[in-house]
Amino acid sequence: MSDCIFCKIASGEIPAKPVYEDDEILAFPDIQPQRPVHILVIPRRHIDSLAQVGPSDEALLGRMLGVAGRIAEAQGSPDGFRVIINTGPIGGQEVMHLHMHIVGGPEPVGPMLKRN
Ligand code: 5GP
Ligand code: ZN
Repeated sequence: MSDCIFCKIASGEIPAKPVYEDDEILAFPDIQPQRPVHILVIPRRHIDSLAQVGPSDEALLGRMLGVAGRIAEAQGSPDGFRVIINTGPIGGQEVMHLHMHIVGGPEPVGPMLKRN
């Protein structure tokens, strides 16, 4: 996806400071952090959103979740964190390249959703 900002970060065209990377995924700080710890985890391969994944993506998704605890701890949120995957217009997804937010401490992240 030539005009996808996260593909450009994954390819190195746009520089990011990875806090974790391997052959399939990359994690880097969110440009507009909403908590003291706010990291994005993306697959290197372009996938629009969680709504597009299938059985062949299960290992990749497992890997994204599997590194979250280590990243949160290393980034300064050892006592817990929250992962968020906004999906599609209903989920409030703004960048259409699958990504997982890791948000965390030192203070509690707060209520899961804004109450109506
Ligand atoms: P979404 O609402 O799609 O779940 O979240 C997109 C996130 O990507 C936002 O938190 C936004 O701050 C972040 N973001 C957008 N553009 C960039 C960028 O160029 N670099 C980084 N590091 N984060 C970005
Ligand atoms: Zn992309």
